Order: sequence, then structure tokens, then C-alpha cells
Amino acid sequence: MPDIDLVVRDITQEMQQRTDRGQVATYIPELGRVDPNAFGLVVIGADGKVSAGGDSDTPFSIQSISKVFTLTLALGKIGDRLWQRVGREPSGSPFNSIVQLENERGKPRNPFINAGAIAVTDAILSGHQPREALGEIVRFMQFLAQDPSIKIDEDVAASEQRTGFRNIALANYMKSFGLIENPVDFTLGVYFHHCAIAMSCRQLATAAGFLAYLGRNPSTGLSVVQPERARRINALMLTCGHYDGSGEFAYRVGLPGKSGVGGGIIAIAPGKASIAVWSPGLDAAGNSHLGRIALEELSKRMGWSIFGV
Ligand code: GLU
Repeated sequence: MPDIDLVVRDITQEMQQRTDRGQVATYIPELGRVDPNAFGLVVIGADGKVSAGGDSDTPFSIQSISKVFTLTLALGKIGDRLWQRVGREPSGSPFNSIVQLENERGKPRNPFINAGAIAVTDAILSGHQPREALGEIVRFMQFLAQDPSIKIDEDVAASEQRTGFRNIALANYMKSFGLIENPVDFTLGVYFHHCAIAMSCRQLATAAGFLAYLGRNPSTGLSVVQPERARRINALMLTCGHYDGSGEFAYRVGLPGKSGVGGGIIAIAPGKASIAVWSPGLDAAGNSHLGRIALEELSKRMGWSIFGV
């Protein structure tokens, strides 16, 4: 088995030198200010051992990576009833697509496209004030990462709130089918803010640890979900975690993963590692360009693909 510290060091150096870095997202204006040359990679093994490279402690906007954690919270809150409101199939569509919603009478394909994540946020919000729901989400992230310093980047949240016309349309459209229980503004306010949580690769890899180790976080020893739930969240990440790039990610990397337009990706090698990578430039499907390449190299060199070496 190759030495993971050396593999992380080598991949970090290779990625830092590459000039093909993709395009930083600008549709949320505040994200366009991020340095495209940033690169971070953190791998946490079964024993809690951390291997880190590059800008591994720099917080960035986790964006859609937050959807994994809101899904975990919503399943904890209402269990399998969640699947009455959102499906479990890959969409084959861009992250903010509206076309499928009409054919499927407002029920989003899966919890990781924007429409699905907004429906999941709505489920967390029901019975609470937006401030309480958001506090619950942020505290969950702090608990998972064992780091009370994690917080929302208010500038990013405000930037998306000003410009998130597509998401506003998606939420209103779902509301017209009765699939959003709360006032649309409240649900979207919580959604925009949880997407704007800022975390480093180290914090994200720690927070995702429970998905790699049967629901129990190896860094803290704390049980977060039952093994069956961790397995199912991983299945959804594999099939739906990269929007219309999910098939390509499974083909190249072979690990469950979830990307965000801030350029982060978390990936899970079940029983072996939880991984977070960050490179702000995106590919055409809105997934981190070098992040995906780094994960492909990592999975290949370590023999971690769930489909075999
Ligand atoms: N907040 C972003 C949006 O709704 C999340 C998209 C993403 O990270 O893929 O557009």
C-alpha cells in the first residue's frame, strides 16, 4: 500500500503546478473573488490519521456540499417520509435545472440538485423559525467537525440572496405544487445561508468521516447515524453527487462524492478514508476541475475505487 502522506504531497504539488484550472463560479458574485490558484487536499484514515496538502486550513464556501449534511439532518428528523417529497434518481440535468420539475409535478429528482436540496431544507425548517433551523444546521457542522469556529460567510449568503433568481423560481414552482410547506422566502433564506457556510478541507474531511466508517466519526469516536443510513447517503452521493457529471465522476474516481460550486468536493472511500479537496475553478458541469482530477489520481494510486483497482 503506498504511503498516503507521500501520495497527498505528490498530488498537491502536481495540482499546484497545473495551469488548466477551470473557471471560478461568478453567478454568485462573491464567489468570483476567490483566488483560482488555491488548492487544498485532506485525507483522514480509519484511525483518524490526517494527511494534508496545500491550503488545507483555508475556509471556502462549501455551497452544495452542505446538501449532504442537510440531508442527514432531515432524515434524522422525518426519516423515510422525506422520500415523499424528493426522489432518489440521478437527474442527468444541470444543478439548477427547472425542466424536470414540470414533468414530475414539482417533485425533485434527488436531494442534491438545487430543487431537491431546497425541499430538504424546507423539511428541516418546518416547525421552526428560520433562525432556529439555521442554528441547528451550523451546530451540526460544528459538532461533526468538532470545531465551534465554523460559521456562515454572510457576504456570500447576501450575494446569493440578491442574485439567486433561478432558485427563487424553483422554490416558487415547487410551492405551486404544494411541495414547500413554509413561506418560500423563509425556506430560501435558510438554503442560501447553509450553502454559504465556510469550511476548510480539514474541517470538511473530519465532518464527513461518519460516512466512511459505518456512521461513526473516527476522529471523535461519536456515532452520528446508523450504518444503513451512511450506506444509503453514500449511494446517493455516488449516483447524484455531481449533477450531470455524476456518471463521469463514478467512471473516473469510483467513489461517492459531493461537489459544490465553491470548488470543494468531499469523497468517501468506505472503510478507508474520508477526503476533502478544494480548487475553485469549475468544469462545464459546475464541479471542481482540478478537484476531480486530484481525486482520480488519489483513488487510482491508493486503489480505493469501490469498483476495484
Ligand atoms: N448555492 C448554490 C446554488 O444554489 C449551490 C450550487 C452548487 O454548489 O452546486 O446555486
